[in-house]
Amino acid sequence: MAGLSEETYDGGPVAALRRIAFLMERGREETRRIQAFRNAAAVILPLPADEVVARAEAGTLTQLSGIGPSTAGVITDAVHGRLPDRLAKLEAAFGPLVQGGDEVRARLRGDLHSHSDWSDGGSPIEEMAFTAIELGHDYLVLTDHSPRLTVANGLSVARLQRQLGVVDAINEHLSESQFTLLKGIEVDILDDGSLDQTDEMLAQLDLRVASVHSKLRMDAAPMTKRMIGAIANPRTNVLGHCTGRMVMGNRGTRPSSDFDAKAVFEACVEHDVAVEINSRPERRDPPTKLLELARDMGCLFSIDSDAHAPGQLDFQQYGCERAHAAGIDADRIVNTWPRERLLEWANPQR
Ligand SMILES: [Zn+2]
Ligand SMILES: [Zn+2]
Repeated sequence: MAGLSEETYDGGPVAALRRIAFLMERGREETRRIQAFRNAAAVILPLPADEVVARAEAGTLTQLSGIGPSTAGVITDAVHGRLPDRLAKLEAAFGPLVQGGDEVRARLRGDLHSHSDWSDGGSPIEEMAFTAIELGHDYLVLTDHSPRLTVANGLSVARLQRQLGVVDAINEHLSESQFTLLKGIEVDILDDGSLDQTDEMLAQLDLRVASVHSKLRMDAAPMTKRMIGAIANPRTNVLGHCTGRMVMGNRGTRPSSDFDAKAVFEACVEHDVAVEINSRPERRDPPTKLLELARDMGCLFSIDSDAHAPGQLDFQQYGCERAHAAGIDADRIVNTWPRERLLEWANPQR
């Protein structure tokens, strides 16, 4: 079915299908529906361009396994140089995320917080890596969850060890490119401030984000002690979404945890741990007052997507806008640093 849009489109059918999937992910639509578009892109990618055009003309695209009426419609529009309706609607709904922060975004070289389908993400590791490349990143740190976060299918020592082998294989495959997939973890901060992974395992990683995911309503004194305990751990590099708040979204809202922010940020400065600006729209963490406090106290920052699907990787734009509004100098944002500098900072004991 031809689209009604009069707008032209010269990206070709594969890019149109992938962009649709990307924008659906950003809109946090169902993984299964999104997958249809990624699959269709994979089906037509190896076909000669004239065959795709001929099938679009003859109306026989749907005879290909993996192409249904809606994906065929997108392909037909794209081969005729028309902007597919579906893409136009998604661009309007989920296109440019926010005004501002472009200069900060242009300085970012990577992302330090992302999830794959090994824990609670929706996509395979390589899809996350390919999309990070498409966004212009030099590196992406894969940070699936740690064992005790069973609701998010956290990785045991054995599974994490296996994942590291997969990361090596992906990097070998990408050795021609500038891009590196870095080994990481989003490690739970346990009640006593210890980290939910063995030190041997943590030592094998390139970078570690430590976050509180349980007992968020703990009293301020033990919560402060708990967070500082994790920050003081020499393996910790980034303090993830420090307040744990949820400001919107289908999981409901949740207030910030109570803790002594001054003491926590002081510990971050002392132990050279970056405060994460978590870019997920439902988190917006830290809140502006705390972001400004961390800025004034001299903290380092990382602007992270915390993406659970490829289309969420550019949530970073939200964090960039906030960093810009708070007047945070780009050199204090560790993911503006080149890979080597980042790795040296994250692994002073190496
Ligand atoms: Zn988290
Ligand atoms: Zn996360």
